[in-house]
Amino acid sequence: MTTLRALAAVCEQLARTRSRRDLARQVADFLGALDAEEVRPAVRFLLGQAGRGGAVSGQTLWRVLVRLVGEGASADVWTGAVDFGEAVERLLERRETPAELPALGLIEVEERVRALAGPRGAGSRAEKERLLAELFARLTPLEAKYVAKNLIREMRTGAAEGILLDAVALVAGGDRAAVARAHMLEGDLTEVAALALANRGGPLPASALTYFRPLRPMLAHSAESVSEALATFGGRAAVEWKLDGARVQVHRRGDDCRLYSRRLQDLTESLPDVVGELRRGLSAPAAILEGEVIPVDAAGRALPFQELMRRFRRIRDIGRLEREVPVRLHLFDALQAGDEPLIDRPYGERWATLERVRGMLRVVGRVVPPTAAEAEAFSAAALADGFEGVMVKGLDAPYTPGVRGRGWLKVKRATTVDLVIIAADRGYGRRHGWLSNYHLAARDEETGRLEPVGKTFKGLTDAEFRTMTDRLSALAIREEGPTVHVEPRIVVEVLFTDLQRSPTYAAGLALRFARIARIREDKAPADADTVQHLRALFARQQTRGVGGEGEA
Ligand code: AMP
Repeated sequence: MTTLRALAAVCEQLARTRSRRDLARQVADFLGALDAEEVRPAVRFLLGQAGRGGAVSGQTLWRVLVRLVGEGASADVWTGAVDFGEAVERLLERRETPAELPALGLIEVEERVRALAGPRGAGSRAEKERLLAELFARLTPLEAKYVAKNLIREMRTGAAEGILLDAVALVAGGDRAAVARAHMLEGDLTEVAALALANRGGPLPASALTYFRPLRPMLAHSAESVSEALATFGGRAAVEWKLDGARVQVHRRGDDCRLYSRRLQDLTESLPDVVGELRRGLSAPAAILEGEVIPVDAAGRALPFQELMRRFRRIRDIGRLEREVPVRLHLFDALQAGDEPLIDRPYGERWATLERVRGMLRVVGRVVPPTAAEAEAFSAAALADGFEGVMVKGLDAPYTPGVRGRGWLKVKRATTVDLVIIAADRGYGRRHGWLSNYHLAARDEETGRLEPVGKTFKGLTDAEFRTMTDRLSALAIREEGPTVHVEPRIVVEVLFTDLQRSPTYAAGLALRFARIARIREDKAPADADTVQHLRALFARQQTRGVGGEGEA
């Protein structure tokens, strides 16, 4: 039996070791010593995913632990740069532990963590806290640290994933590419690890696309403009409508047809009309295709994305909603036709296959423009028709499941918000002598503070830069390196294409591709847009694609 203690020791090693090779070796050795049924729990734990579905908040856990250790024991555990896991470790170090804590097995710990998701309804909170107390009472401070990190999902899974892929590759005879590919197709590293360990030392059995097992969707990068995106592909690429709806993966074989969301949830029951259309209309008896479902009005015009969400929330009474919220599927990719996998084929070829198999089904509007000017014109028309923007796709690019590949670039309609200039950087080079890179802030409705959410030096003419430099210099409060902090007086309308999470800004969000549209002389800082407004925009960006992760 492998104990949690052994696993926590490995985690601790991982946090200390610098060399990636050594890390992978250690993890590979650890995995190699596991019993078959321990592989999945161990990998989930190492990835920080053991708490998935457990729904425990940091607050609840902390309350339970303070009760366990004794009120008052928690004084200054948070001093210094500690994360939640470290704080838990410190806290438990202050507990009077029994001399001998019997070690818990990995499997038992996972079962106990899973049980946390069980309690429902009245009294569930107390029950959950009881289960937590019972579990943590049996953990050493180090074990507690990593269980806590799993529960509140604090592990930095990005890094862990890379190391685990390396480690699994070592187990599978060193073929990193085969492991990465299996991961792409399986969608789940836990399964790949189990597969590799079951065939220890030998090559990884080839994964294949399987009907009715959805593949993680390929993701897109952002580009600022169509011309820029086109240039990335050497001037030749497809430009397609970017529809603002829900992404669906279609699996059709004979009479069986199922639809999956971006998060691989089964949407078949919510979209019976689309399923019917596919059954009747596709000319291929078997295919895996991808497209976007959008809500439309009676005349077939695209409606706001929110309308669509009603279809996914309400499973009952679908018949009525089908009439109330008609939807339309526009296909844009083909991942498999019959028994022939296509994901490694260039996109141009996949599109040709899509055209061949689609029968009566719609595809997205698309051109392969001979010039950048034509690409821009297509994009302008798409925006005028109410689409969200365009996707620019490399004709040679393979389909890379789950990966934000270089093959797809999205160019979105810019949104505008009114923000306050709170500081500016002294320009250099051509901008020497100007205050040019503006720090933009939104108002936090709750605290009343102005929170920075982005910077830009784009959008103003030279003359406007000069005037702005004079105005900002008059508002200067203090200097910090090249940055001049100013009284927050000037409001500007800012165009941006995307929001992303920001670890540096207190608001937690940052604008991407920001540029100043105009100076809002008519507005005061109190009229600026709020952090809350940006959060709402971000939430909307995230949910697009039905519970999709959106940007990460
Ligand atoms: P975003 O969610 O902003 O990262 O943009 C990517 C999403 O755009 C995809 O997941 C699809 O749901 C959606 N989309 C709309 N039109 C297309 C298209 N023509 N090709 C690929 N994805 C599209």
